[in-house]
Amino acid sequence: MNVTFNLDSITRDNVKKLAPYSSARDEFSGSNGIFLDANENPFNTGYNRYPDPHQKKMKEKIAVLKDVETKNIFLGNGSDEAIDLLLRAFCEPVKSNVIILPPTYGMYEVAANINDVEVRKVLLQNNFQPDTVGIQNAIDTNTRLIFFCSPNNPTANSFQTELMQEVLEKFNGIVVVDEAYIDFSAQQSFVSKLKNYPNLVVLQTFSKAWGMASLRLGMAFADDKIINILSKIKPPYNINGITQQIVLVALEKPENVKSYISEILKERAKLISALSALPLVKHIYQSDANFILVKVEDAKSVYNYLVRENIVVRDRSKVELCEGCIRITVGTKEENDKLLNALKKFK
Ligand SMILES: *Cc1c(COP(=O)(O)O)cnc(C)c1O
Repeated sequence: MNVTFNLDSITRDNVKKLAPYSSARDEFSGSNGIFLDANENPFNTGYNRYPDPHQKKMKEKIAVLKDVETKNIFLGNGSDEAIDLLLRAFCEPVKSNVIILPPTYGMYEVAANINDVEVRKVLLQNNFQPDTVGIQNAIDTNTRLIFFCSPNNPTANSFQTELMQEVLEKFNGIVVVDEAYIDFSAQQSFVSKLKNYPNLVVLQTFSKAWGMASLRLGMAFADDKIINILSKIKPPYNINGITQQIVLVALEKPENVKSYISEILKERAKLISALSALPLVKHIYQSDANFILVKVEDAKSVYNYLVRENIVVRDRSKVELCEGCIRITVGTKEENDKLLNALKKFK
């Protein structure tokens, strides 16, 4: 329970007062008829009509899959859109602040900077777990959002549930739990805790386990009062029609995703054991994601060498707490074999 949280007190006045754009497809939602209401081209190309601004069909399928109600789902042009809209709904430029826990996903800070919102950084502890005392000290009356990324990018570990709940229970602001990598983890999703926390927003995405990064589709799950605010301020047609079509088909067969996940987990285990046998590898961090953070002898040279071998990994060696590390995404068996062969030849 959180007795402090008051959504009204953190919602921007302009957002509270906003009369959202009303699209032609808001006023009439039937599917048969002669549509002369939206100035579209009448000739059927397969994409001459505006898409459903409420993404009703997708939300119905996602609701079943995630065991939530459709009113608790927001869909965005990637999770990145949800991150931006949270800032625009709840943070006053210049005045408000948000808390992030580096090393973490870069987009939280970029989105805050675009919106001219102060970013307070509370470094993770050496075991890559959140520093809850540091977080409590960083919170003031202008703190609106705290971003937990679990499993965290780039450290690959999950945060302890109790540490996140401790913040969820006390904070008069929104706690974002970014679960982009949850499908690769044994951890239980915070989606199951939505009923307990009116200030919880869980982010998930179709970009990783689902294999649809190019389609740009992210999900936010939250109390319907928060969802209503995000829906009110989003661009009306934020999810394009082709994306809706393709994802609807994919949602018919969620078992395909399970087979991607099990293949990637198998490859992750293989990669970890093969990497740990290499002399240049100093440490492999435990991974709950589809990537591995690896400490190596000389990260910059390993990175440059791999690029020359036509293999691109992510150099994280300049990132605080990730000194000397590269981040490797788990690829196909063939790709991982090529990586390992190249690393074996590194001198
Ligand atoms: C990849 C990733 C996402 C996905 O963002 P999309 O905009 O949905 O593609 C979100 N959060 C984290 C931490 C990520 O690493």
